[in-house]
Amino acid sequence: MKETKRISFSIPTAHERLAAFGLTEEEIERSLDLVEQKYGPVDELVPGEYAIELPIEEPGAPVYTNQDVISSFYAAARQVGADGWSWLSRAGLTGLVADRQGEYRGPAIDDLPGLTAGEKARIQAILAPTAAPPAEAVPSFTWVGPTGNHDSGRFGHQIEMIVIHFTASGSGTGTVSWFKNPQSKVSAHYVIDRDGRMFQVVKDGNNAWHAGLSSRPALGLEANRLRLERGDLIRPNPRAIGIEIVNWGPLEKRDNKYYNWTGKEHLGQVVEAGGQYWEPYTESQYDSLIELVSYLCKRYGVTIRYPPQGAGVYHERPQDLADFSGILGHSAIDNTKSDPGPHFDWDRLMAGLRSAG
Ligand SMILES: [Zn+2]
Repeated sequence: MKETKRISFSIPTAHERLAAFGLTEEEIERSLDLVEQKYGPVDELVPGEYAIELPIEEPGAPVYTNQDVISSFYAAARQVGADGWSWLSRAGLTGLVADRQGEYRGPAIDDLPGLTAGEKARIQAILAPTAAPPAEAVPSFTWVGPTGNHDSGRFGHQIEMIVIHFTASGSGTGTVSWFKNPQSKVSAHYVIDRDGRMFQVVKDGNNAWHAGLSSRPALGLEANRLRLERGDLIRPNPRAIGIEIVNWGPLEKRDNKYYNWTGKEHLGQVVEAGGQYWEPYTESQYDSLIELVSYLCKRYGVTIRYPPQGAGVYHERPQDLADFSGILGHSAIDNTKSDPGPHFDWDRLMAGLRSAG
């Protein structure tokens, strides 16, 4: 079992009380998540005594949801024509179904009772399909997951593409919260904030929900038929890592002022590109993106190249993308999307990747 530290606090101001324990802002946020899971929305707690168990971070230790573990059991058992539930039962883990989105806190797979070494190896191979790279090669991102908004594993696909998005949002933490909200049904593997800080929400080996081509009621029958067919051919989520860059996206100009989609005035810098106004990406975001994409390309053997028609250009022929390994914008996959937008400097990304080796 993981070690935990016990944290007790009183209402009001849960955040301030947690800060008084000398926790980092990130630990506070994780703690508030746990409090919310256990007791309900923090702002609605009544005065009284509360206690949670905050797991002590073990650097490099994989973090799985209970559903990841359940799915790996089923997938491993299926490989040998066996039943996943009976494996879970032998290992004493059937209780995991009671909290599918929670973080797995049970024994390491190797230490589980009731399973043969071969069975454990199969489960392990599905849970951790690639060996961990040397620590110095890994960019410094903060793990802020897990979220329930993902599928365990990649439906048998390899990581072949890296899809770049903008969040159309005001902050990295807001975006992460949105990705962790079960209502949103969206997520990405990584989020890069304006100051260059990187967050990971979904593990690389899992299927995040960032570029799927599901049907849209507004599109009509034929358009949706083509869209679903395209999705089946490209399989964007199972084959891609999704990176979201925090950026407002398109801005509207009125009376020499600029407004983001929420209607709020945009007071920062503005660039014009493709006949529209945009918030420019920051220097720190480009630096972090180059570091992250370079690492991912090396680790998973993704080719450093655009699709033939260009990285941000919508590809009419889904077959071009079905066999493609490389880096592209969300707009290349989905004609209802514009991200990362014409203000994104693809040449800078590519030059950075090439000089990073
Ligand atoms: Zn997108």
